[in-house]
This record gives sequence, C-alpha cells and structure tokens, in this order.
Amino acid sequence: MRSTLVTFPDGRTSGRSQVVGAVPVGDRHGLVVAETPFHPLDHTWPDQPADRGTIGGLPVVDCVTGARSSAGEVFLGDAIPVRRGTEEGWDWLVVHVTETPLPVGAEVELEVDADLRAALSAGHTACHLAALAVNAALAGHWRKEAALDPLGHPDFDQTAIVSSRIEPHGSVDVYRLGKSLRKKGFSAEGVDFGKIAQQANEQLAAWVAADAPVRLDVPGPGLTARRTWHCSLPAGEASIPCGGTHVRGTAELGRVEVAFSLEEAALTMRTTCGGAG
Ligand SMILES: [Zn+2]
Repeated sequence: MRSTLVTFPDGRTSGRSQVVGAVPVGDRHGLVVAETPFHPLDHTWPDQPADRGTIGGLPVVDCVTGARSSAGEVFLGDAIPVRRGTEEGWDWLVVHVTETPLPVGAEVELEVDADLRAALSAGHTACHLAALAVNAALAGHWRKEAALDPLGHPDFDQTAIVSSRIEPHGSVDVYRLGKSLRKKGFSAEGVDFGKIAQQANEQLAAWVAADAPVRLDVPGPGLTARRTWHCSLPAGEASIPCGGTHVRGTAELGRVEVAFSLEEAALTMRTTCGGAG
C-alpha cells in the first residue's frame, strides 16, 4: 500500500479505483484504494469531518487517516504515532470504513455524498473568512506586536485557537483567553464581543458581496501534500495552510455570520453561513 492519491482538493466527489488493501477497524473493515475522492478526518488537526458516501455500492460509515510504517504496520486516526505528513518511511492512507468487506484487487466506484460535501466546503470556507474578519475586528485590542495574519492583522485566531470543528454550513472554534495570551499582548478584559461580532459580520457581508475567488494550491496528489487555501479578497490575497475542501467563490456562501459565547477563559465562536440573505 502506497500513499493514497486524493482528488477531493479539486472538488471531485466520484471516482473509480482498485482496492489495494484492507485493514481491520474494530469489527469493521477499512478499505484502501489507489485513488479516492473521499476526504478523511485528519488525525493531527481534526477540523473537517469525514465524507460519507459509498464504495463499491457499500455505505462508507466513516473515513479515517491511516499511516503505514516501513515495517508494514498500519495505524489509524488517534493511534498514529507521527505527525501528519511525516514522509520518511511512512505511507499515508485514506481508509474507507465499511460494515462488509470487499476483496483486495476489486475495481470499485467511489461516490461521495455531494450535498454533505458541499455543506462542509461552505462551512470550511466560512470558517477561514470568519477567522480573518475577527482578527481584523480585534486588531486594536493588542498591546504588543503579535504574529500577523495574511491580511496584516494580529493573528488572534492562530494565536489563541484550541480546536476548530467544521460543520455543514458552519463551524465552531474555541479560543483560550488565559495567561499565555495575555503575555503575548491580548487581554479580553473590556472587549465587547457583541460589538466585535457585529464588526466582523459587516466585513464578512462585504467579502460575500465581492464574490472573491477561492482556490486551493495543490503541490502534489498525495493525501498529506501541503495544500494552501487562497482567497483573493478586496483587502488582499489571503493564504492559509489547509487540508480540507472549499467553495469556489465567497458569493456561494450566501451570508456568513459569527456569534460569540464567553466562559471563564474560553471564547467560543459559532460561524454560520447559508443562502438566507
Ligand atoms: Zn482549513
């Protein structure tokens, strides 16, 4: 089994390939093909959920990342002992989980649930835009020089983020506002997050109205190639390393809005998008 070639970065949702391996996943079956349109959950930064769909007509109940060591041992998801993309001696696999086995060597059709994929792609693009809009809205609240985001604002998102979960038509991002962030120059004290959300939402509306083109830079066909998200916003070209899937233009999102909830030292940002506007 060599590293799986992936077509989801190009927006593909169907394909045909050969089953090149099978690994047990509990009492289920993990099928590996040479090339797949399925996006698996990333074990290092599990933001975008796995695609659903069918392989050889069988439901794909989950899709996880696998890593095969040079000794031939395959590790799945959380059990992978190395970071995403470690190249020396490792092959990176998209593992399609099914209830029923398929024979190695079989030629199979792969069909991703295109509606769910489209909803997750919208949620993922909205998540990146929300991060940039919130960075801009919070820019005046930093007391020290900080790492800058692609639009030149202090990068609150990447400095404070704890977890990011992409959902259909949205995302949930959790930020830590504790001592280490204060040391880096950001204090949440006195910040009116209702106002910040309003400011960010105005920026997001302008970006949707501008229908900025979105594309992925794909340096190679392997699962763990270092892909980059690009969006040509009126304020400049934004680039963010990203392993997920996206829409092709910001107008597709319809409307993007963020809302915050603040608890102790954690700030949760819920981003939603959809054609409501
Ligand atoms: Zn991303």
